[in-house]
Amino acid sequence: MAVEMKRFKVSAVKCGTYEKSEVTQALTALLDHIGGLGAYVKPGQKVLIKPNLLAPRPPETAVTTHPALVTVIAEAIKQQGAFPFIGDSPGGFGILERIEQLWEITGMKQAAAASGATLVNFEKSRIKELELPLGKKKVKIPVAACVLEDFDVVINVPKFKTHDLTITTGAIKNMFGVMPGLTKIQFHKLAPKKEDLSELLVSLFTQVIPQLNIMDCIIGMEGEGPGSSGTPIATGFLLAADNALAMDIVQASIMGIALENVPVIAVAIKAGLGPKTLAEIDLPGASLEELRPVKFNLPPGSYADKIPRFMVPLLSYIARLIRLTDPVVNDELCTKCQVCVKSCPVKAIDNYQGNIRINYKKCIECFCCIELCPARAMTIKRSGLLKLFEKKG
Ligand code: SF4
Ligand code: SF4
Repeated sequence: MAVEMKRFKVSAVKCGTYEKSEVTQALTALLDHIGGLGAYVKPGQKVLIKPNLLAPRPPETAVTTHPALVTVIAEAIKQQGAFPFIGDSPGGFGILERIEQLWEITGMKQAAAASGATLVNFEKSRIKELELPLGKKKVKIPVAACVLEDFDVVINVPKFKTHDLTITTGAIKNMFGVMPGLTKIQFHKLAPKKEDLSELLVSLFTQVIPQLNIMDCIIGMEGEGPGSSGTPIATGFLLAADNALAMDIVQASIMGIALENVPVIAVAIKAGLGPKTLAEIDLPGASLEELRPVKFNLPPGSYADKIPRFMVPLLSYIARLIRLTDPVVNDELCTKCQVCVKSCPVKAIDNYQGNIRINYKKCIECFCCIELCPARAMTIKRSGLLKLFEKKG
């Protein structure tokens, strides 16, 4: 007897603008494809909306989940007779003291006021330490206990974005925000290689699995994401799924990236967190072809994965001599705000005689400095070798 393969659903609905009426209509259609919001949220429940609030950037930069979508989701939760909350922990030094400013700049304060949702400061939550596997070791990871204990339902609302290090940042990686403040940066120190980092991200995700995922792909980000150095792109749709891995597979496929080249997806597939291939996913609402942008710029790091496997041992040796990607500072744009100096997990950046300087011997290429630089002064320099594969790609 043939064994029936489990099917996964990722709902997709076109939505061209953040106009409230258009987003409301699109969200209703989006959720109807996967059973409606009532299948996930019951009257009286406390529901946490977890957007991507990486840094205090205005909505038009596409660094964070758009407040119009968060507002509409919160209103829909209220219509179910439930109670919406909005919470995330951003990255970088100094933001925690300015959490009010983060909410204001990202539009979350306005989203909460308009919808009657309550803002949750993860930094003020009690900390719970989780012990997670990393290779043969176990590491202790602090998370905001409120996410694990205070809510009946978590709705994950990531942003459609590229990522210099992990290639894409989607539903699974968005739950990284449950780690408070600068502890996220220390995560990079624990797992400097992207494969180890991905293993840890997936382990963390398994402790905080959201019931529903809604991805903001109305304006996405291409190129050097996920921070200000990425470029907004009008992608024009929304995605929803109960399975985060299915959503991330669809996102990578729309971007035109092979699943094995996104380490978080590869680790999550191996861990059995959902579908193994795109073929196991149904897309009610819109086809992949309808959703694909005409042209989509990948992050520089993704070209490293185009290097043929048989060349990897030799190139790994060469890469130790000539690094493939390096963060570089544009002194003309740099405001000397010190965010990068204070956020670098291995203290590879200092301010020498008024100029920001990077010690490449210490740098682990985590790209936190690029993600968090508010002035777009930190960018990636690619080696000639990588540019060669970029052209071939
Ligand atoms: S490079 Fe960016 S983050 Fe670093 S000091 Fe300059 S402006 Fe600030
Ligand atoms: S210099 Fe930048 S990329 Fe290098 S380790 Fe520090 S934060 Fe990461």
